[in-house]
Amino acid sequence: MSRPNKRIVILGAGYGGIFLATNAARHIKEETGEVILVDRNPYHQLLQEIHLVAAGFRTANDVKIPILTLIAGMNIKFIQSAVKQIRPDTNLIVLESTKIHYDVLIVCLGASTKYFNIKGAEENSLPLRSITDASLIYDRVNSIVNSDKKQSVVIVGGGATGVSLGGALSDFINESKKSDSVSVTIIEALPTILSGWDERLVKKVEEVLREKGIRIITSSPVARVENADGDGSDIYLSDDGKSKIHSSINIWTAGIKGYDIPINPEIEKTKDGKIIVNEFCQIDRYPNVFSIGDIAAVRDDTGKLYPPLAQIAVREAKYLSNLIPKHFIANGDTDAAPLSIDEKFEYNIKVQLISLGNDDYVGFFNNHVISGNLARLVEEFSMDAYITTLKSGGRDIMNTSLYGDDIFSHLVSGITFARFTFVKWLKDIA
Ligand SMILES: Cc1cc2nc3c(=O)[nH]c(=O)nc-3n(C[C@H](O)[C@H](O)[C@H](O)COP(=O)(O)OP(=O)(O)OC[C@H]3O[C@@H](n4cnc5c(N)ncnc54)[C@H](O)[C@@H]3O)c2cc1C
Repeated sequence: MSRPNKRIVILGAGYGGIFLATNAARHIKEETGEVILVDRNPYHQLLQEIHLVAAGFRTANDVKIPILTLIAGMNIKFIQSAVKQIRPDTNLIVLESTKIHYDVLIVCLGASTKYFNIKGAEENSLPLRSITDASLIYDRVNSIVNSDKKQSVVIVGGGATGVSLGGALSDFINESKKSDSVSVTIIEALPTILSGWDERLVKKVEEVLREKGIRIITSSPVARVENADGDGSDIYLSDDGKSKIHSSINIWTAGIKGYDIPINPEIEKTKDGKIIVNEFCQIDRYPNVFSIGDIAAVRDDTGKLYPPLAQIAVREAKYLSNLIPKHFIANGDTDAAPLSIDEKFEYNIKVQLISLGNDDYVGFFNNHVISGNLARLVEEFSMDAYITTLKSGGRDIMNTSLYGDDIFSHLVSGITFARFTFVKWLKDIA
C-alpha cells in the first residue's frame, strides 16, 4: 500500500525559503511528497542589493527574480498570498486567500525594522527592508539632489545595511556633482560602526566612507526624532537633547526584529521577536516545525546567535534541504524521532563582504582585508554561484560545492572560482 504524500510547506521565498525549496525538491519524488512555497510577492528579492536601488544604480526590476522562473520544472507548487497565522497544534496555516495543512513546516519570513520604542522614530523615518522601501528612498533622494537648497541625508544605524546605503547614496550624490550641497551622515549608538565585524575590515570601511565624504558619528544613541515643521526631521541624541541633527531625509537602519506573525498557541521567541530553535533549526515543542534566516534565533557552539545575513540563511537552507527529505520523507515519519547530534547545524563564516557603493566592495577573506577588483570579483562570483545553484536546485556540483564545508567542496570551490575569473577575463578582453 502506498504511503500518503507528505506535504512540506515553506513560508517565505527570500534567501532561506527559495534556496530550501529548490534544493529540497530535488530529493523529493512526487509520489512521496510535495513542496509548497508561499510568498506575498510573485518574485524573489535580492535584498542585499536594494541599497543600490535606493541610490539609482539598479532598477527595481534588476533585483527581482520571478519565483515561477526559478522553480520551473521542479516539484514545487507556489502560492502567492500573505501569511496571516500559523497554528502548530493543528498543522494549519491561514493565508489571506486560503488555509493549508502541512506535515512539515519551515518558517522563513525574514525580519522587519526595529525602532526600539524611540519616540517619533517610526513616524519620521524611512525604513529599508524591501524593494518598495528602496524605490521610495530613491524618489526622495533624487528630489533633494535636484533642489537648489542645502540638504542632508541622515542614516541612523551603522550596521551593514546603513553602511552600504551610505556608501551608495554618497556615490549618487558625488556623481550628481552635489557633494557641496547634499551631505550624508551615519549615526551609530555603539562605539564603532559594523560592530562585531573584524576590526581591520571596520578600519578600512571607515576610511572608504570618509573618502566618499560621509560623516560618521559613533557612541551616539538617538533619543527621539521630531518632524521639523514639514522640512524633514530633527534627530535628538541621548545627551539630554543637547545635540540636534537636522535631516532632510532620515533613514532608519538601526535594528531589525523577527517578522511578526501570529503563532497560536504562542511559541518561545527572543526579545527581538526571533523564533527560538534548537541546533537542528527545529522548534522543540513542535518537531515538524523549523525556522531559518533572519526570523530564527539559531545559535552556534558558543551560544552566540548567528548574524542576520543572506549567507547564513542560505547555509541553513542547504542544511535543511538534506535533513528534511532524509528524516521526514524517506521514512515517512512526521512525528520525527530525535535527530542525532552529529547532524546539527554548524557553519563558520569564512568570507565577509560589504558593498560600499556602486561597484565598490570591501571584504575579509582568509584573514586578510580585500578591496578593489578582488573584492568585486568575489562578490560577483558568490552571486553567480547563488543564482546557478538556485536554478539547478543544487544539481550543479561545481557551484553547489561553495555551500559545503568538506575538503572536496573547498577544492571544487577553488577550481570553480578560478574558472569563473578566467571566463570573466576572456569576456572582458573580447
Ligand atoms: C540593504 C541590505 C543589504 C544587505 N547586505 C547583505 C550582504 O551584503 N550580505 C549578506 O549576507 N546579507 C546582507 N543583507 C541581509 C540579508 O538580506 C538577509 O539576512 C536575508 O535576506 C535573510 O533571508 P531570509 O530568507 O531570512 O529573509 P528574506 O530574504 O527577507 O525573505 C523573507 C521573505 O518572506 C516574505 N514574507 C514576509 N512576510 C510575509 C507574509 N506575511 N506573507 C507572505 N510572505 C511574507 C517576503 O516577501 C520575503 O520574500 C542585507 C540586507 C539589506 C536590507
